[in-house]
Amino acid sequence: MIWDRRNECLGREEIDQLQLERLQSALNRVYRNVSFYKKRFDRLGILPDEIQTLQDLAQFPLTLKEDLRESYPYGMFALPLREVVRIHSSSGVTGKPTVTGYTKNDLHHWSQLTARVLSAGGVTKDDVVQITFKYGLFTGAFGLHQGAELIGASVIPMSTGNTRKQVVIMQDYKTTALISTPSYALLLARHMEKEKIDPKSLSLKLGLFGAEPCPESMRREIEERLFITATDNYGVSEVMGPGVSAECEQRNGLHLNEDHFIPEIIDPVTGDVLPEGSKGELVFTAVQREAMPLIRYRTRDMTTLRKERCGCGRTLIRMDKIYGRSDDMLIIGGVNVFPSQIESVLMEIEGVEPHYQLVVDREENLDTLTIMVELGEQTFSDEVKKLQGLEKKISKNIKEFLGVSAKVQLVEPKTIARSEGKAKRVIDNRKY
Ligand SMILES: [Zn+2]
Repeated sequence: MIWDRRNECLGREEIDQLQLERLQSALNRVYRNVSFYKKRFDRLGILPDEIQTLQDLAQFPLTLKEDLRESYPYGMFALPLREVVRIHSSSGVTGKPTVTGYTKNDLHHWSQLTARVLSAGGVTKDDVVQITFKYGLFTGAFGLHQGAELIGASVIPMSTGNTRKQVVIMQDYKTTALISTPSYALLLARHMEKEKIDPKSLSLKLGLFGAEPCPESMRREIEERLFITATDNYGVSEVMGPGVSAECEQRNGLHLNEDHFIPEIIDPVTGDVLPEGSKGELVFTAVQREAMPLIRYRTRDMTTLRKERCGCGRTLIRMDKIYGRSDDMLIIGGVNVFPSQIESVLMEIEGVEPHYQLVVDREENLDTLTIMVELGEQTFSDEVKKLQGLEKKISKNIKEFLGVSAKVQLVEPKTIARSEGKAKRVIDNRKY
């Protein structure tokens, strides 16, 4: 179902016109009310009024996560704190947190946008929605919670953890839609297998996944193990939270709510705007936010935007699933490689665990890539010949899909270090 037919099915010219008007207004608001932007625009000698077309946006400077950190906590707010009714922030694991504020109107828009996401994923007022994101400063749980209530679904605010109880609630309360990270969905499936609970005995039929990448292979696995239809959705805490983009039933990209977030694709190295259909880093201008409009915010997420019409009737531009982070990008022998792409290749191969480490070296001016891949317990006991075959297969698939040559080294189960936070996926020994 399309939640907001009027705004999700606009003609291209109408969208462009709407974006331009909202952009002009947002640029004026930040210039008047946010000293960070005023200083920047003044330094470059650009005035918000000079913007005549959407392409003119490219003249304005990019906003980085570091800029938000330096403005901690309220420096990026365009309104006084008394207008702000909600505050969320990032965890701040890797530095100062980034804070984002919402006015009443922002919350209203946010609910509308997550209602679009949930409707695209198949949720209706007849559904019982179990939310397993953490309720707290993180935007995921509250954002989708509001949207689900707006639709009229019955919402179970479970928050994270306690897998046993999550499943009991699912059984007793007859949950029909699960909202979680894709990896948590797999954890639930594993738990049910261990406890001999048949997923088919549940009322579950939909899974809406976000907060981390969900490659196609992972989606398939979740669907097969939980007997549900899974859709992917995408959010950025700094620009809003969930509600930025989501898959429809066609599942050929995520419809981006571009009436609120104007997307651009840039070259992550030069910062130049790339033509439509190019792979690059996603940048957003949040034109409708009152408390915290952001101009050209670098998400660091790599994707492609597509304008072709979708079979569902929505006209909103679509983005491909995120295939990596621009700050993770490795350039190996001139080819751009993302650890997530290697992970996708590995996940397609049976007997291989998604635990790996990439070692990059430079020998006689040539870049070399070694992929250490962990084996599952069963595969590890196989005979040497079989293992050699597996090494060859991984190497061949990497070459075929990513265009780089790699040496593959299979290692014993559980030998690659795990850490609580981000796994150390890459060891780059090259001297620049
Ligand atoms: Zn669609």
